[in-house]
Amino acid sequence: MAAVEAGPAAEAGPAAETTLPAAGLTGSQCPRCAVVVYPEGAGCPRCGGDMVATALSTGGVLWTWTVQRFAPKSPPYQPPPEGFRPFAVGYVELPEGVRVEAVIEVDDLASVRIGMPLRLIPPVHSGCAANPGRGVPRFAAPDGPVGR
Ligand SMILES: [Zn+2]
Repeated sequence: MAAVEAGPAAEAGPAAETTLPAAGLTGSQCPRCAVVVYPEGAGCPRCGGDMVATALSTGGVLWTWTVQRFAPKSPPYQPPPEGFRPFAVGYVELPEGVRVEAVIEVDDLASVRIGMPLRLIPPVHSGCAANPGRGVPRFAAPDGPVGR
């Protein structure tokens, strides 16, 4: 069995170094039992087998959520220039069966509903120096904010 599955870009020339899409989240999948986790992990939580990196879907549905009504500890939180405003945070369930903690970007917190379709807002936060790859992704309704 191949250790790492080669993507379609593997033989495409200079761009071949990029094996996973930059626009999406990267999780891990167990080749043995198909469990998918996010963020990436080395060992399968179900069977203990080795995991391989896998690109996750950029769309999902809101599994549950709450409102962050006070500014998180800073750092790592960086308030926007206009100052802190309460925001929605929740778990987005992806088709792979994995739930991703995310900030839910909406103009009106009263519009947030469990089960609402959401899409990932690029660029994906790459985390901070002390915690690389562990930034909190942002999702929005398909017709919602594009980013701030
Ligand atoms: Zn497994």
